[in-house]
Amino acid sequence: MKAWTLDKPACVAERPLRIRDIPVPAPADDELLLRVNACGICRTDLHVVEGELPMRRSPLVPGHQIVGRVAAIGSKVEGFSMADRVGVAWLNRTCGVCEFCRSNCENLCDQAQFTGWTVDGGYAQYAIAPASYSYHLPNSFDDIQVAPLLCAGIIGYRCLRLTGLSQNEWKGARLGLYGFGAAGHICIQLARARGAEVYVCTRDRERHQALAGELGAAWVGDATEEPPEKLDALIIFAPAGELVPLALKALRKGGTAVLGGIHMSEIPAFDYSLIYGERAVRSVANNTREDGREFLTEAARIPVRTHTQTFTFDQANEALTALKNDSIRGAAVLVTEGM
Ligand SMILES: [Zn+2]
Ligand SMILES: [Zn+2]
Repeated sequence: MKAWTLDKPACVAERPLRIRDIPVPAPADDELLLRVNACGICRTDLHVVEGELPMRRSPLVPGHQIVGRVAAIGSKVEGFSMADRVGVAWLNRTCGVCEFCRSNCENLCDQAQFTGWTVDGGYAQYAIAPASYSYHLPNSFDDIQVAPLLCAGIIGYRCLRLTGLSQNEWKGARLGLYGFGAAGHICIQLARARGAEVYVCTRDRERHQALAGELGAAWVGDATEEPPEKLDALIIFAPAGELVPLALKALRKGGTAVLGGIHMSEIPAFDYSLIYGERAVRSVANNTREDGREFLTEAARIPVRTHTQTFTFDQANEALTALKNDSIRGAAVLVTEGM
């Protein structure tokens, strides 16, 4: 099969991904083999390719928003049939026995495997994944629309959960979103459907600010601008630590700032007054399978509409460059179907 592989991290301008012919992987007893149709491109892929996340496997096939059709089934798999449409996300596998796995926090498992980082992912014609960590996908979305839901969508969903706002607190709540790429443009749709007013701060005017306006943001400003109202909660999707003190200025007492990225530049020192008043700052790490299932159900019900920019399979390096330059409107998707 054809697969994009990373031998050594490097700046995307150096085109670090190389296309190779490698054997189609064989699924283990508990795994599925998928013929990949589409794979969403996530900022985490950029962090992997450029080395902000340490290399855990070489060569590596990146990609963790895989949409495919079942092409082979391991002997112990239940609940999947040949040709079923399946999604694979970042959380690839967990140990199932550690204190985190046993307490509904499998996203924090120390032994977890991650798709497209510690195991091969979906920038390829075929991929394998453990069946019990794979998702049946709602029929209402096509392959390209559904791909960005598998990380950008699920992570945004978990960020909304970790704001601590309960179901009946969303109506009229003021939510800030800092950064408005793939995750932001899905998250705003969930938050608005729950009844929140959404305030968006993002540096990209041409694409991101325009899209935020179209998707019904109550206010849109630059990344460093202060929203006109105090926020009940906020989520920082941009990997820029300098946004943390800026955003805290806009957070009301008792509110939570959720940091949605797997990597962030250093957070500058800030005055205690910015966090005093029982403001909380917390990160989000990965997701549980429950998050994934709940999110896909809610996304299908609303329904969420993803804005995508597609790249043909041979354009993986170009897609990552575009992502780095903030020049994607919505989410980038690598299309493998038809190869
Ligand atoms: Zn575990
Ligand atoms: Zn991701």
